[in-house]
Amino acid sequence: MTPTDLIGSGMTSARTRERMVNRLLEQGITDLSVIDVMRRTPRHIFLDEALAHRAYEDTSLPIGHGQTLSQPYIVARMTEVLLADGPLKKVLEIGTGSGYQTAVLAQLVGQVYSVERIRALQEKARQRLSLLKLNNVRLRHTDGGLGWPEDAGSFDGIIATAAPMGVPKALITQLAEGGRLVIPVGGGDVQDLLLITRRGDGHETRVLEKVNFVPMLGGVL
Ligand code: SAH
Repeated sequence: MTPTDLIGSGMTSARTRERMVNRLLEQGITDLSVIDVMRRTPRHIFLDEALAHRAYEDTSLPIGHGQTLSQPYIVARMTEVLLADGPLKKVLEIGTGSGYQTAVLAQLVGQVYSVERIRALQEKARQRLSLLKLNNVRLRHTDGGLGWPEDAGSFDGIIATAAPMGVPKALITQLAEGGRLVIPVGGGDVQDLLLITRRGDGHETRVLEKVNFVPMLGGVL
């Protein structure tokens, strides 16, 4: 990967990225800090070379191992929901995948913790994040249903980019007071995107919209 690859050209150029950003605005994304970060982040380096030219299309794309890089709108929407209550110091992501959502978060919050169950994906993500000099990210190869147990109670945001059948209890208990969990929940092709806010020993749940994610699976590969 050369500096020119990072800047992009043709279908991966700044102009193509600008078209993606305009679409996000049309689709109702309003947080300009999210828009700005997505304008700056070279999404094409998070895909294999053969798919890089499609990086800025309004669609999810395969990243191998049966997994997908989420559609730009979904990345923007989940990030803006996570940030809607003010700045976040410490965020946990379940499902590093390509590392694109991780990269977007790393430019908007203090520290990102991200877990992935497929080692091969995690390794590629690690290289991309270091290429972008995003040093406020900690990656771990583990089953994300368990979250990041030793830091329980300290995350002011948690975002899941794979859908479990039900909300894992561990994730709720790992939120700080007032912390926000954004998570797709349900089986099948269509799930509900939930926003869960921790309130004392309990929590509040809001259903946001219908989404389409890969399933959250147990065990590691
Ligand atoms: N945020 C990613 C989306 C990747 S798709 C991106 O921007 O590219 C969802 C990812 O969640 C996949 O990489 C999948 O392997 C991972 N995943 C699924 N179940 C998981 C689990 N229990 N723990 C950790 N990662 C999981």
